[in-house]
Amino acid sequence: MTTLPARIDTDQVKHVHPVEEVVSRYGIELRPVGRALVGRCPFHPDGGRPNLYVYPGNRSWYCYRCAVGGDVISFVMRLERLGFRDAVARLEGDSLVACPTPPRPARRPSARPRRSFAWGAAERACLAVAVELYHNRLLTDPAALAYVEGRGLERATLERCRVGYASGEELAAYLRWRRLPAQAAVRVGLLRHDGREFLAGRVVVPEIRGGQPLWLVGRTVGPDGGDPKYLGLPGGKPLLGWETAVGSPTAIVVEGVFDWLTLRGWGLPALALVGTHLRPEAQRGLARFERIYLVLDTDEPGRAAAAKLMRTLGSRAVPVLLPGVKDVAELATCPDGRSIFHRAVQQSEHARAA
Ligand SMILES: [Zn+2]
Repeated sequence: MTTLPARIDTDQVKHVHPVEEVVSRYGIELRPVGRALVGRCPFHPDGGRPNLYVYPGNRSWYCYRCAVGGDVISFVMRLERLGFRDAVARLEGDSLVACPTPPRPARRPSARPRRSFAWGAAERACLAVAVELYHNRLLTDPAALAYVEGRGLERATLERCRVGYASGEELAAYLRWRRLPAQAAVRVGLLRHDGREFLAGRVVVPEIRGGQPLWLVGRTVGPDGGDPKYLGLPGGKPLLGWETAVGSPTAIVVEGVFDWLTLRGWGLPALALVGTHLRPEAQRGLARFERIYLVLDTDEPGRAAAAKLMRTLGSRAVPVLLPGVKDVAELATCPDGRSIFHRAVQQSEHARAA
């Protein structure tokens, strides 16, 4: 471990680590605009026109939305929530900072099942930086972005839900650069034992609680992007969207990730089962809502799951029949999909009262 000198020559640090290189290394794509390089600011949900301006000429950056800026050191301090000396150490490649374990070749997988909700600091950090990298990548990957926007999702929803795209070629290097141990990423399932990305080539949606991603699920891009269509990280599958739904007396339960994203885009308290299987914990979670609208797929597994939930939840559960579509996600691309959905919910209430 090298030790930093008592007095740090900041001009030297800024000279050796060009701010534009460091910003790009965090997965933020920069495009030249005049004398600046412009990209999406990592400190606020940066939709629409990007707000982060990097000025190589005077080695500085500024976000016009956050109204904050500085030099390469302050960028690292802010992004990684580090103090001044730790940020400099980070840039100098020192191992003073947390999680200094270098990546090692993968070991044999443990046969024990994992409990994803009890990860340690390194595992949680890996999940957080993966979500950050994948999200930045989605916003700059034309094919992946076209896919999700083609499914009727707005940019604001993608940002609010931190939807991402795993290119499959970046995570291992990114973790290395963020000084996070590859083994921790293997344990949470982000990396396979041979170092390949588990969710490669997929649109990725995280379950975030208290600002911390706990679990990720990925969907192949395109109508027939390969099997399986959905792939979740190993460990316990949570109800997707818990934190935003839990404050509401009602919840709308759907099967799929895109159903869920559609409802989130409409500002509704949605929860996704991510499939039709419901674990006992998730069932207990649902029992706290006063009213649970079940909007499961109109196929056999969806109907069976709805029937089972109605048995468990009793009269609080109300099945909703969508007219002429298989699921909520299909309504996302209908011009009047949102009002069709609201009408279907109203009708289910009437049917129940009758
Ligand atoms: Zn900003």
